[in-house]
Amino acid sequence: MATKYLFFTGGVVSSVGKGVTAAASGLLLKERGFKVAVQKLDPYINVDPGTMSPYQHGEVYVLDDGAETDLDLGHYERFIDIRLSRVSNFTTGQVYAEIISKERRGDYLGGTIQVIPHITNEIKRRIGLVEKETGAEIVILEVGGTVGDIESQPFLEALRQLRNEVGRENCLFIHVTWLPTIGATGEIKTKPTQHSVAALRSIGISPNVIIARADQEIDQSLCDKIALFCDVERNAVIPMKTASVLYEVPLMLEKLGVGELMLEKLGLKATRKPDMRPWKKLVEDVKKEKPSVNVALVGKYVELQDAYMSVREALKHAALANGVEVCIRWVHSADLEKDKGWDVIQNADAVLVPGGFGSRGVEGKIMAARYARENKVPYLGLCLGMQVMCIEFARNVLDLEDANSSEFDRATEHPVIDLMLDQRSITDMGGTMRLGLYPCLLLPGTKAGAAYGVPRVDERHRHRFEFNNAYRERFKEHGMMFSGLSPDNRLVEIVELRDHPYMVASQFHPEFLSRPMKPHPLFVGLVRAAKERAGK
Ligand code: GLN
Repeated sequence: MATKYLFFTGGVVSSVGKGVTAAASGLLLKERGFKVAVQKLDPYINVDPGTMSPYQHGEVYVLDDGAETDLDLGHYERFIDIRLSRVSNFTTGQVYAEIISKERRGDYLGGTIQVIPHITNEIKRRIGLVEKETGAEIVILEVGGTVGDIESQPFLEALRQLRNEVGRENCLFIHVTWLPTIGATGEIKTKPTQHSVAALRSIGISPNVIIARADQEIDQSLCDKIALFCDVERNAVIPMKTASVLYEVPLMLEKLGVGELMLEKLGLKATRKPDMRPWKKLVEDVKKEKPSVNVALVGKYVELQDAYMSVREALKHAALANGVEVCIRWVHSADLEKDKGWDVIQNADAVLVPGGFGSRGVEGKIMAARYARENKVPYLGLCLGMQVMCIEFARNVLDLEDANSSEFDRATEHPVIDLMLDQRSITDMGGTMRLGLYPCLLLPGTKAGAAYGVPRVDERHRHRFEFNNAYRERFKEHGMMFSGLSPDNRLVEIVELRDHPYMVASQFHPEFLSRPMKPHPLFVGLVRAAKERAGK
Protein backbone atom coordinates (compact mmCIF):
# COMPACT_ATOMS: atom_id res chain seq x y z
CA MET A 1 0.00 0.00 0.00
CA ALA A 2 1.24 3.50 -0.81
CA THR A 3 1.99 5.65 2.21
CA LYS A 4 -0.87 7.99 2.96
CA TYR A 5 -0.33 11.58 4.08
CA LEU A 6 -2.55 13.68 6.30
CA PHE A 7 -1.54 17.32 6.17
CA PHE A 8 -2.79 19.57 8.97
CA THR A 9 -2.67 23.32 8.40
CA GLY A 10 -3.97 26.07 10.64
CA GLY A 11 -6.09 29.04 9.74
CA VAL A 12 -7.17 32.39 11.23
CA VAL A 13 -5.16 32.38 14.48
CA SER A 14 -2.56 30.23 16.18
CA SER A 15 -3.36 28.15 19.26
CA VAL A 16 -6.64 26.77 17.87
CA GLY A 17 -5.61 23.30 18.90
CA LYS A 18 -4.27 22.11 15.57
CA GLY A 19 -1.67 19.92 17.29
CA VAL A 20 -4.20 18.36 19.62
CA THR A 21 -6.62 17.78 16.73
CA ALA A 22 -3.90 16.14 14.66
CA ALA A 23 -2.78 14.01 17.60
CA ALA A 24 -6.35 12.91 18.33
CA SER A 25 -6.85 12.08 14.64
CA GLY A 26 -3.73 9.95 14.85
CA LEU A 27 -5.25 8.03 17.72
CA LEU A 28 -8.43 7.37 15.70
CA LEU A 29 -6.31 5.93 12.89
CA LYS A 30 -4.13 3.86 15.20
CA GLU A 31 -7.30 2.50 16.76
CA ARG A 32 -8.39 1.37 13.30
CA GLY A 33 -5.31 -0.76 12.99
CA PHE A 34 -2.93 1.50 11.07
CA LYS A 35 0.72 2.16 11.78
CA VAL A 36 0.86 5.90 12.24
CA ALA A 37 3.84 8.26 12.32
CA VAL A 38 3.95 11.97 13.00
CA GLN A 39 5.94 14.95 11.86
CA LYS A 40 5.71 18.60 12.87
CA LEU A 41 7.19 21.23 10.58
CA ASP A 42 8.11 24.46 12.34
CA PRO A 43 8.52 27.42 10.01
CA TYR A 44 10.64 29.57 12.36
CA ILE A 45 14.32 30.14 11.60
CA ASN A 46 15.71 28.77 14.88
CA VAL A 47 17.48 25.46 14.37
CA ASP A 48 15.48 23.87 17.16
CA PRO A 49 13.42 25.08 20.12
CA GLY A 50 16.23 24.04 22.51
CA THR A 51 17.60 27.54 22.82
CA MET A 52 14.28 29.38 22.65
CA SER A 53 12.76 31.11 25.65
CA PRO A 54 9.99 29.10 27.33
CA TYR A 55 8.13 32.41 27.56
CA GLN A 56 7.86 32.51 23.79
CA HIS A 57 7.75 28.90 22.90
CA GLY A 58 6.52 27.00 25.92
CA GLU A 59 8.15 23.80 26.99
CA VAL A 60 10.93 22.11 25.06
CA TYR A 61 9.86 18.51 24.64
CA VAL A 62 12.68 15.94 24.59
CA LEU A 63 12.54 12.65 22.71
CA ASP A 64 14.31 9.33 23.32
CA ASP A 65 17.12 10.19 20.93
CA GLY A 66 17.66 13.56 22.59
CA ALA A 67 15.96 15.72 19.97
CA GLU A 68 14.75 18.97 21.53
CA THR A 69 11.38 19.56 19.95
CA ASP A 70 8.16 21.51 19.91
CA LEU A 71 5.71 20.82 22.73
CA ASP A 72 3.14 19.52 20.25
CA LEU A 73 5.26 16.39 19.99
CA GLY A 74 4.25 15.78 23.59
CA HIS A 75 0.58 15.79 22.57
CA TYR A 76 1.35 13.28 19.85
CA GLU A 77 3.18 10.93 22.19
CA ARG A 78 0.51 11.20 24.87
CA PHE A 79 -2.50 10.78 22.61
CA ILE A 80 -1.17 8.13 20.25
CA ASP A 81 1.11 6.53 22.87
CA ILE A 82 4.06 6.33 20.48
CA ARG A 83 7.74 7.14 20.84
CA LEU A 84 8.88 9.69 18.29
CA SER A 85 12.37 10.43 17.03
CA ARG A 86 14.44 13.25 15.59
CA VAL A 87 12.83 13.00 12.14
CA SER A 88 9.49 13.94 13.70
CA ASN A 89 10.27 17.64 13.97
CA PHE A 90 12.20 20.07 11.80
CA THR A 91 12.45 23.80 11.32
CA THR A 92 13.23 26.28 8.56
CA GLY A 93 16.53 26.82 10.39
CA GLN A 94 17.53 23.18 9.90
CA VAL A 95 16.54 23.23 6.26
CA TYR A 96 18.57 26.34 5.50
CA ALA A 97 21.53 25.19 7.62
CA GLU A 98 21.69 22.02 5.53
CA ILE A 99 21.45 23.80 2.19
CA ILE A 100 23.94 26.51 3.15
CA SER A 101 26.52 24.01 4.37
CA LYS A 102 26.20 22.12 1.08
CA GLU A 103 26.65 25.37 -0.79
CA ARG A 104 29.80 26.15 1.21
CA ARG A 105 31.16 22.70 0.38
CA GLY A 106 30.64 23.48 -3.29
CA ASP A 107 28.04 20.78 -3.82
CA TYR A 108 26.01 22.99 -6.14
CA LEU A 109 28.92 23.64 -8.50
CA GLY A 110 28.21 27.35 -8.69
CA GLY A 111 24.49 26.98 -9.40
CA THR A 112 22.05 29.54 -8.06
CA ILE A 113 20.28 28.26 -4.97
CA GLN A 114 16.58 29.05 -4.72
CA VAL A 115 13.58 28.38 -2.53
CA ILE A 116 12.12 26.35 -5.38
CA PRO A 117 13.58 23.79 -5.94
CA HIS A 118 16.42 23.63 -3.39
CA ILE A 119 14.60 24.51 -0.20
CA THR A 120 11.41 22.72 -1.18
CA ASN A 121 13.40 19.61 -2.18
CA GLU A 122 15.13 19.54 1.19
CA ILE A 123 11.73 19.88 2.89
CA LYS A 124 10.38 16.96 0.85
CA ARG A 125 13.50 14.89 1.60
CA ARG A 126 12.94 15.37 5.32
CA ILE A 127 9.27 14.48 5.01
CA GLY A 128 10.30 11.29 3.21
CA LEU A 129 12.53 10.28 6.10
CA VAL A 130 9.55 9.65 8.36
CA GLU A 131 8.12 6.87 6.25
CA LYS A 132 11.62 5.46 5.61
CA GLU A 133 12.50 5.37 9.29
CA THR A 134 9.20 4.20 10.71
CA GLY A 135 7.61 2.21 7.90
CA ALA A 136 4.37 3.96 8.78
CA GLU A 137 1.28 3.42 6.65
CA ILE A 138 -0.06 6.88 7.47
CA VAL A 139 2.08 9.95 8.10
CA ILE A 140 0.42 12.78 9.98
CA LEU A 141 2.14 16.00 9.14
CA GLU A 142 1.41 19.26 10.94
CA VAL A 143 2.57 22.58 9.57
CA GLY A 144 3.26 24.95 12.44
CA GLY A 145 1.98 28.52 12.38
CA THR A 146 -0.95 29.87 10.44
CA VAL A 147 -1.59 29.89 6.70
CA GLY A 148 -0.63 33.34 5.44
CA ASP A 149 2.56 33.54 7.54
CA ILE A 150 5.45 34.47 5.32
CA GLU A 151 7.62 31.70 6.83
CA SER A 152 5.26 28.86 6.07
CA GLN A 153 5.08 29.46 2.30
CA PRO A 154 7.98 27.16 1.29
CA PHE A 155 6.47 24.39 3.44
CA LEU A 156 3.06 24.68 1.83
CA GLU A 157 4.66 24.81 -1.61
CA ALA A 158 6.57 21.61 -0.76
CA LEU A 159 3.33 19.92 0.28
CA ARG A 160 1.67 21.00 -2.93
CA GLN A 161 4.50 19.43 -4.92
CA LEU A 162 4.50 16.32 -2.77
CA ARG A 163 0.80 15.85 -3.41
CA ASN A 164 1.52 15.54 -7.13
CA GLU A 165 4.46 13.22 -6.56
CA VAL A 166 2.75 10.76 -4.24
CA GLY A 167 -0.65 11.11 -5.90
CA ARG A 168 -3.68 13.10 -4.85
CA GLU A 169 -5.49 9.98 -3.74
CA ASN A 170 -2.81 9.47 -1.09
CA CYS A 171 -3.09 12.92 0.49
CA LEU A 172 -5.62 14.63 2.63
CA PHE A 173 -5.43 18.30 3.54
CA ILE A 174 -7.15 19.11 6.81
CA HIS A 175 -7.43 22.78 7.66
CA VAL A 176 -8.13 23.67 11.29
CA THR A 177 -9.63 27.11 11.79
CA TRP A 178 -11.22 29.33 14.37
CA LEU A 179 -14.72 30.80 14.27
CA PRO A 180 -14.82 33.99 16.33
CA THR A 181 -17.95 35.23 18.07
CA ILE A 182 -19.08 38.83 18.11
CA GLY A 183 -19.58 39.63 21.77
CA ALA A 184 -22.61 41.91 21.54
CA THR A 185 -24.74 39.62 19.39
CA GLY A 186 -23.19 36.24 20.14
CA GLU A 187 -22.99 35.64 16.43
CA ILE A 188 -20.41 33.17 15.12
CA LYS A 189 -18.48 34.41 12.08
CA THR A 190 -17.10 32.32 9.22
CA LYS A 191 -15.43 35.10 7.23
CA PRO A 192 -11.91 34.64 8.67
CA THR A 193 -12.14 30.94 7.77
CA GLN A 194 -13.14 31.85 4.24
CA HIS A 195 -10.15 34.17 3.98
CA SER A 196 -7.71 31.63 5.27
CA VAL A 197 -8.98 29.01 2.83
CA ALA A 198 -8.63 31.59 0.05
CA ALA A 199 -5.00 32.12 1.14
CA LEU A 200 -4.40 28.37 1.05
CA ARG A 201 -5.96 28.06 -2.38
CA SER A 202 -3.79 30.88 -3.70
CA ILE A 203 -0.81 28.57 -3.05
CA GLY A 204 -2.57 25.82 -4.95
CA ILE A 205 -3.94 23.80 -2.07
CA SER A 206 -7.66 23.23 -1.60
CA PRO A 207 -8.40 21.71 1.76
CA ASN A 208 -10.37 18.45 1.73
CA VAL A 209 -11.60 18.80 5.28
CA ILE A 210 -12.18 21.87 7.46
CA ILE A 211 -12.28 21.46 11.20
CA ALA A 212 -13.82 24.66 12.51
CA ARG A 213 -13.42 25.31 16.17
CA ALA A 214 -15.46 27.71 18.27
CA ASP A 215 -16.24 28.23 21.92
CA GLN A 216 -19.97 28.01 21.15
CA GLU A 217 -22.17 25.34 19.65
CA ILE A 218 -21.81 25.55 15.86
CA ASP A 219 -25.03 24.79 14.00
CA GLN A 220 -25.39 23.02 10.69
CA SER A 221 -26.23 26.16 8.72
CA LEU A 222 -22.79 27.56 9.52
CA CYS A 223 -21.14 24.35 8.36
CA ASP A 224 -23.15 24.51 5.15
CA LYS A 225 -22.02 28.07 4.63
CA ILE A 226 -18.36 27.14 5.13
CA ALA A 227 -18.79 24.22 2.72
CA LEU A 228 -20.26 26.50 0.08
CA PHE A 229 -17.79 29.34 0.38
CA CYS A 230 -14.72 27.17 0.85
CA ASP A 231 -15.55 24.56 -1.78
CA VAL A 232 -15.48 21.64 0.63
CA GLU A 233 -18.00 18.79 0.76
CA ARG A 234 -20.71 19.30 3.37
CA ASN A 235 -19.83 16.26 5.39
CA ALA A 236 -16.21 17.41 5.44
CA VAL A 237 -16.86 20.51 7.53
CA ILE A 238 -16.43 19.43 11.13
CA PRO A 239 -17.81 21.67 13.88
CA MET A 240 -15.53 21.39 16.89
CA LYS A 241 -16.75 23.04 20.02
CA THR A 242 -13.99 23.72 22.55
CA ALA A 243 -13.64 20.68 24.79
CA SER A 244 -13.75 21.09 28.54
CA VAL A 245 -11.31 18.21 28.94
CA LEU A 246 -8.32 17.88 26.64
CA TYR A 247 -8.59 14.11 26.41
CA GLU A 248 -12.16 14.42 25.20
CA VAL A 249 -11.01 15.65 21.80
CA PRO A 250 -10.54 12.16 20.27
CA LEU A 251 -14.02 11.16 21.48
CA MET A 252 -15.54 14.29 19.98
CA LEU A 253 -13.79 13.76 16.65
CA GLU A 254 -14.89 10.13 16.60
CA LYS A 255 -18.46 11.13 17.31
CA LEU A 256 -18.33 13.68 14.52
CA GLY A 257 -17.31 10.90 12.14
CA VAL A 258 -13.77 12.14 11.50
CA GLY A 259 -12.25 8.65 11.80
CA GLU A 260 -14.42 7.23 9.03
CA LEU A 261 -14.18 10.39 6.95
CA MET A 262 -10.37 10.20 6.88
CA LEU A 263 -10.45 6.56 5.78
CA GLU A 264 -13.08 7.18 3.15
CA LYS A 265 -11.16 10.09 1.66
CA LEU A 266 -7.89 8.18 1.65
CA GLY A 267 -9.50 5.06 0.22
CA LEU A 268 -8.58 2.94 3.24
CA LYS A 269 -10.38 0.13 5.03
CA ALA A 270 -9.99 -0.28 8.78
CA THR A 271 -8.50 -3.57 9.87
CA ARG A 272 -10.20 -3.34 13.24
CA LYS A 273 -12.94 -1.45 15.02
CA PRO A 274 -11.76 1.41 17.15
CA ASP A 275 -12.13 0.75 20.85
CA MET A 276 -12.62 4.11 22.50
CA ARG A 277 -13.83 2.68 25.81
CA PRO A 278 -10.59 3.36 27.70
CA TRP A 279 -10.74 7.01 26.62
CA LYS A 280 -14.42 7.26 27.55
CA LYS A 281 -13.61 5.89 30.97
CA LEU A 282 -10.69 8.30 31.29
CA VAL A 283 -12.83 11.32 30.45
CA GLU A 284 -15.61 10.16 32.78
CA ASP A 285 -13.06 9.83 35.56
CA VAL A 286 -11.72 13.30 34.84
CA LYS A 287 -15.22 14.76 35.04
CA LYS A 288 -16.23 12.96 38.22
CA GLU A 289 -16.41 14.92 41.48
CA LYS A 290 -13.26 14.06 43.40
CA PRO A 291 -11.49 15.28 46.50
CA SER A 292 -8.73 17.66 45.53
CA VAL A 293 -5.13 18.08 46.60
CA ASN A 294 -3.09 21.24 46.16
CA VAL A 295 0.29 21.04 44.52
CA ALA A 296 2.49 24.14 44.63
CA LEU A 297 4.48 24.30 41.42
CA VAL A 298 7.48 26.52 42.07
CA GLY A 299 8.88 27.70 38.76
CA LYS A 300 10.16 30.77 37.03
CA TYR A 301 8.09 30.72 33.86
CA VAL A 302 4.78 30.40 35.68
CA GLU A 303 3.20 33.27 33.73
CA LEU A 304 3.12 30.99 30.71
CA GLN A 305 1.83 27.64 31.88
CA ASP A 306 2.69 26.05 28.52
CA ALA A 307 6.28 26.21 29.74
CA TYR A 308 5.35 23.31 32.05
CA MET A 309 2.98 21.48 29.71
CA SER A 310 4.25 17.94 30.32
CA VAL A 311 4.57 18.48 34.07
CA ARG A 312 0.97 19.64 34.20
CA GLU A 313 -0.22 16.67 32.18
CA ALA A 314 1.83 14.19 34.25
CA LEU A 315 0.25 15.60 37.42
CA LYS A 316 -3.20 15.14 35.90
CA HIS A 317 -2.40 11.53 34.95
CA ALA A 318 -1.12 10.78 38.44
CA ALA A 319 -4.17 12.43 40.02
CA LEU A 320 -6.50 10.20 38.03
CA ALA A 321 -4.58 7.14 39.15
CA ASN A 322 -5.08 8.27 42.75
CA GLY A 323 -8.76 9.17 42.35
CA VAL A 324 -8.20 12.82 43.19
CA GLU A 325 -8.21 16.16 41.44
CA VAL A 326 -4.94 18.05 41.40
CA CYS A 327 -5.13 21.82 41.78
CA ILE A 328 -1.88 23.29 40.63
CA ARG A 329 -0.98 26.47 42.49
CA TRP A 330 1.62 28.36 40.52
CA VAL A 331 4.33 30.03 42.57
CA HIS A 332 6.94 32.31 41.14
CA SER A 333 10.20 31.23 42.75
CA ALA A 334 11.56 34.78 42.72
CA ASP A 335 8.54 35.86 44.81
CA LEU A 336 9.54 33.48 47.59
CA GLU A 337 12.84 35.33 47.83
CA LYS A 338 10.86 38.53 48.45
CA ASP A 339 8.73 36.93 51.13
CA LYS A 340 5.76 36.63 48.81
CA GLY A 341 3.76 33.55 47.84
CA TRP A 342 4.53 31.60 51.01
CA ASP A 343 0.84 31.20 51.85
CA VAL A 344 0.53 29.04 48.73
CA ILE A 345 3.40 26.80 49.88
CA GLN A 346 1.96 26.62 53.39
CA ASN A 347 -1.43 25.53 52.08
CA ALA A 348 -0.02 23.01 49.64
CA ASP A 349 -0.26 19.26 50.09
CA ALA A 350 2.85 18.84 47.95
CA VAL A 351 5.60 20.93 46.39
CA LEU A 352 6.95 20.37 42.91
CA VAL A 353 10.08 22.07 41.61
CA PRO A 354 10.47 21.55 37.86
CA GLY A 355 13.47 22.05 35.59
CA GLY A 356 15.04 25.35 34.71
CA PHE A 357 18.16 27.20 33.68
CA GLY A 358 20.03 30.25 34.94
CA SER A 359 20.25 31.75 38.40
CA ARG A 360 17.10 33.88 38.50
CA GLY A 361 14.74 32.52 41.12
CA VAL A 362 17.01 29.66 42.16
CA GLU A 363 17.28 30.81 45.78
CA GLY A 364 13.48 30.76 45.98
CA LYS A 365 13.44 27.18 44.78
CA ILE A 366 16.07 26.26 47.38
CA MET A 367 13.85 27.87 50.04
CA ALA A 368 10.87 25.85 48.84
CA ALA A 369 12.91 22.63 49.07
CA ARG A 370 13.96 23.55 52.59
CA TYR A 371 10.36 24.15 53.59
CA ALA A 372 9.31 20.78 52.17
CA ARG A 373 12.11 18.96 53.98
CA GLU A 374 11.62 20.63 57.33
CA ASN A 375 7.84 20.41 57.30
CA LYS A 376 7.72 16.94 55.78
CA VAL A 377 5.66 18.13 52.84
CA PRO A 378 5.78 15.71 49.88
CA TYR A 379 8.23 17.01 47.29
CA LEU A 380 9.09 16.06 43.75
CA GLY A 381 12.11 17.65 42.07
CA LEU A 382 12.67 17.43 38.36
CA CYS A 383 16.18 18.07 37.06
CA LEU A 384 16.90 21.53 38.48
CA GLY A 385 14.40 20.50 41.18
CA MET A 386 16.78 17.71 42.15
CA GLN A 387 19.76 20.00 42.07
CA VAL A 388 18.17 22.55 44.41
CA MET A 389 17.12 19.77 46.77
CA CYS A 390 20.79 18.74 46.98
CA ILE A 391 22.05 22.30 47.40
CA GLU A 392 19.56 22.91 50.19
CA PHE A 393 20.54 19.68 51.93
CA ALA A 394 24.24 20.54 51.71
CA ARG A 395 23.69 24.02 53.11
CA ASN A 396 21.28 23.27 55.91
CA VAL A 397 21.94 19.67 56.90
CA LEU A 398 25.64 19.31 56.16
CA ASP A 399 26.31 22.95 57.13
CA LEU A 400 28.21 23.65 53.94
CA GLU A 401 27.15 27.24 53.94
CA ASP A 402 28.00 28.35 50.44
CA ALA A 403 27.13 25.05 48.74
CA ASN A 404 25.81 25.68 45.26
CA SER A 405 25.76 24.50 41.69
CA SER A 406 28.67 25.79 39.65
CA GLU A 407 25.99 26.93 37.19
CA PHE A 408 25.02 29.67 39.65
CA ASP A 409 28.29 30.28 41.48
CA ARG A 410 31.49 29.37 39.70
CA ALA A 411 33.61 30.17 42.72
CA THR A 412 31.67 28.20 45.32
CA GLU A 413 33.78 26.23 47.74
CA HIS A 414 31.23 23.41 47.64
CA PRO A 415 30.00 22.72 44.13
CA VAL A 416 27.66 19.88 45.11
CA ILE A 417 26.24 20.18 41.59
CA ASP A 418 28.95 20.51 39.01
CA LEU A 419 29.83 20.17 35.35
CA MET A 420 30.99 16.79 34.18
CA LEU A 421 34.49 16.83 32.72
CA ASP A 422 33.23 16.15 29.20
CA GLN A 423 30.92 19.19 29.35
CA ARG A 424 33.62 21.69 30.37
CA SER A 425 35.05 22.44 26.96
CA ILE A 426 31.68 23.01 25.26
CA THR A 427 30.91 26.58 24.22
CA ASP A 428 27.95 26.10 21.84
CA MET A 429 24.51 26.44 23.41
CA GLY A 430 22.36 24.30 21.09
CA GLY A 431 22.10 20.54 21.47
CA THR A 432 25.15 20.19 23.71
CA MET A 433 23.60 18.95 26.95
CA ARG A 434 23.11 15.41 28.22
CA LEU A 435 20.04 14.80 26.12
CA GLY A 436 17.66 11.91 25.67
CA LEU A 437 17.27 8.45 27.06
CA TYR A 438 19.75 7.08 29.62
CA PRO A 439 19.46 3.97 31.78
CA CYS A 440 19.03 4.17 35.54
CA LEU A 441 19.36 1.34 38.04
CA LEU A 442 17.08 1.50 41.05
CA LEU A 443 18.12 0.76 44.59
CA PRO A 444 15.80 -1.81 46.15
CA GLY A 445 14.08 -0.77 49.34
CA THR A 446 13.79 2.89 48.34
CA LYS A 447 10.68 4.87 47.50
CA ALA A 448 11.77 5.25 43.90
CA GLY A 449 12.55 1.55 43.66
CA ALA A 450 9.14 0.66 45.05
CA ALA A 451 7.35 3.19 42.84
CA TYR A 452 8.82 1.77 39.64
CA GLY A 453 8.70 -1.85 40.76
CA VAL A 454 11.43 -2.81 38.28
CA PRO A 455 15.23 -2.84 38.69
CA ARG A 456 16.05 -0.68 35.64
CA VAL A 457 14.39 2.15 33.78
CA ASP A 458 15.28 4.43 30.89
CA GLU A 459 14.42 8.08 31.25
CA ARG A 460 14.84 11.27 29.23
CA HIS A 461 17.40 13.88 30.17
CA ARG A 462 18.10 17.51 29.35
CA HIS A 463 20.77 19.10 31.49
CA ARG A 464 24.41 20.00 31.70
CA PHE A 465 25.18 19.75 35.41
CA GLU A 466 25.32 16.64 37.61
CA PHE A 467 25.55 15.67 41.25
CA ASN A 468 29.17 15.93 42.40
CA ASN A 469 30.28 12.50 43.57
CA ALA A 470 32.84 13.96 45.98
CA TYR A 471 29.88 14.62 48.28
CA ARG A 472 28.05 11.31 47.97
CA GLU A 473 29.30 9.75 51.20
CA ARG A 474 28.56 12.81 53.31
CA PHE A 475 25.05 13.07 51.89
CA LYS A 476 24.43 9.40 52.63
CA GLU A 477 25.63 9.66 56.21
CA HIS A 478 23.05 12.37 56.81
CA GLY A 479 20.03 10.60 55.38
CA MET A 480 20.02 11.24 51.66
CA MET A 481 19.65 8.13 49.56
CA PHE A 482 20.84 7.72 46.01
CA SER A 483 18.00 5.55 44.84
CA GLY A 484 18.77 5.76 41.12
CA LEU A 485 22.24 5.57 39.58
CA SER A 486 23.66 5.10 36.10
CA PRO A 487 24.74 1.47 35.52
CA ASP A 488 28.43 2.48 35.79
CA ASN A 489 27.62 4.14 39.12
CA ARG A 490 29.09 7.46 37.95
CA LEU A 491 25.93 9.52 37.63
CA VAL A 492 23.31 10.20 40.26
CA GLU A 493 19.90 9.91 38.65
CA ILE A 494 17.47 9.87 41.60
CA VAL A 495 17.85 11.10 45.17
CA GLU A 496 15.42 10.80 48.07
CA LEU A 497 15.33 11.58 51.76
CA ARG A 498 15.23 8.71 54.20
CA ASP A 499 13.14 10.21 56.99
CA HIS A 500 10.48 11.97 55.02
CA PRO A 501 7.08 10.89 53.69
CA TYR A 502 8.10 11.56 50.08
CA MET A 503 10.99 13.76 49.10
CA VAL A 504 12.15 12.35 45.79
CA ALA A 505 13.89 14.03 42.89
CA SER A 506 15.33 12.96 39.57
CA GLN A 507 18.05 14.34 37.36
CA PHE A 508 15.96 13.27 34.37
CA HIS A 509 12.54 14.50 33.28
CA PRO A 510 9.96 11.83 34.11
CA GLU A 511 7.16 14.10 32.87
CA PHE A 512 8.05 13.34 29.24
CA LEU A 513 7.13 9.67 29.59
CA SER A 514 3.88 10.01 31.50
CA ARG A 515 0.81 8.96 29.49
CA PRO A 516 -2.87 9.37 30.34
CA MET A 517 -3.28 5.60 30.63
CA LYS A 518 0.24 5.01 32.00
CA PRO A 519 0.86 7.61 34.66
CA HIS A 520 4.49 8.02 35.69
CA PRO A 521 5.40 6.22 38.95
CA LEU A 522 7.29 9.15 40.48
CA PHE A 523 4.29 11.45 39.93
CA VAL A 524 1.88 8.81 41.18
CA GLY A 525 4.02 8.56 44.33
CA LEU A 526 3.93 12.32 44.85
CA VAL A 527 0.17 12.59 44.48
CA ARG A 528 -0.38 9.58 46.74
CA ALA A 529 1.76 11.22 49.43
CA ALA A 530 -0.10 14.51 48.94
CA LYS A 531 -3.41 12.71 49.30
CA GLU A 532 -2.26 11.10 52.54
CA ARG A 533 -1.08 14.42 53.88
CA ALA A 534 -4.41 16.03 53.03
CA GLY A 535 -6.17 13.11 54.75
CA LYS A 536 -8.24 12.35 51.67
N1 GLN B 1 20.24 24.02 34.63
C1 GLN B 1 20.42 22.68 35.06
C2 GLN B 1 21.45 21.93 34.22
O1 GLN B 1 21.77 22.33 33.14
C3 GLN B 1 19.10 21.94 35.09
C4 GLN B 1 18.51 21.73 33.73
C5 GLN B 1 17.05 21.36 33.78
O2 GLN B 1 16.37 21.53 34.78
N2 GLN B 1 16.52 20.88 32.67
O3 GLN B 1 21.96 20.92 34.65
